[in-house]
Amino acid sequence: MNASGEFDIIARYFARLGANRADVRLGVGDDAAIVMPPPSRELVITTDSLVEGVHFLPNASATSLGHRAFAVNLSDVAAMGAEPAWALLSLTLPRIDEPWLAEFARAAGDLCRRHDVALVGGNTTRGPLSITVTLTGIVPIGMALERRGGQPGDAVFVTGSPGDAAAGLALEQGRLHVTDPMSAQILRDRFLFPTPRCDVGIALRGLASACIDVSDGLGGDLEKLCAASGCGAELDATSLPVSEALLGAVGRELAREYALTGGEDYELLFTVPLARLGAMTHAIARGLGPVTRIGSLVAHAGVRVFSRSGVMQFSRAGFDHFV
Ligand SMILES: [Mg+2]
Repeated sequence: MNASGEFDIIARYFARLGANRADVRLGVGDDAAIVMPPPSRELVITTDSLVEGVHFLPNASATSLGHRAFAVNLSDVAAMGAEPAWALLSLTLPRIDEPWLAEFARAAGDLCRRHDVALVGGNTTRGPLSITVTLTGIVPIGMALERRGGQPGDAVFVTGSPGDAAAGLALEQGRLHVTDPMSAQILRDRFLFPTPRCDVGIALRGLASACIDVSDGLGGDLEKLCAASGCGAELDATSLPVSEALLGAVGRELAREYALTGGEDYELLFTVPLARLGAMTHAIARGLGPVTRIGSLVAHAGVRVFSRSGVMQFSRAGFDHFV
């Protein structure tokens, strides 16, 4: 197949992927896209690549890859408290595989429409499978959430149930065996189809003092937030929100270890000053989403995890992608 034929095939799948946004003046198909940012807003821009063998297994489905490639970027925009808007996609493909492209585009399009994201451009190259998404979000001036705003005394919260995705990955790799098929499917899906917490991130504007998304493990990512904020944190292991599926699969102790060191969760980890805890409680009552308080920021550096038996050790190197 000649190059222009390939281009036509790919263009067919990506020409109108995602939401139809009124602020896209020129989308896929020209030399570059033109978008119209609203006045008095700042743009938040992020990019992330998924590379075969590093970020996903060779047998990963196109459905999961289409979802994850956009979900990991949506999660970064969520962590900034921004509304996702425009995306670019760079695809390196070993060959033109139309069923694969159709499946990938459908999964990516579903997630993008759910979050009102329009694909406005991209490119394709031939080579080992690799997927890069660049995502731009919109936030009122000065309202973006950063890692550096935390203060000693602030409460530490996390969304969802961290650790599930790492257990799901272990299942996919055959390193973990779970007898209950329902639990196994729930855990696998948490890895293959992470839920970016965009609504929570937007609701945290003016409420959270600092925020990060959990991609490398709750403990390690909390250390990054603490380092940026110039403080430390103390967590209560008994308050970690572990799911029934994870608990049933690996037991309480290992579930906590997965929750602290697992990675690939794409949950939000954020801090709230004590003076805003009342507002936070109201937000939770109004349906903010699944959030749990797990500890507090403290003046001295480092992250310590307390359990009934004392201070728990966890390995920062617990998550190491596939190497
Ligand atoms: Mg991040």
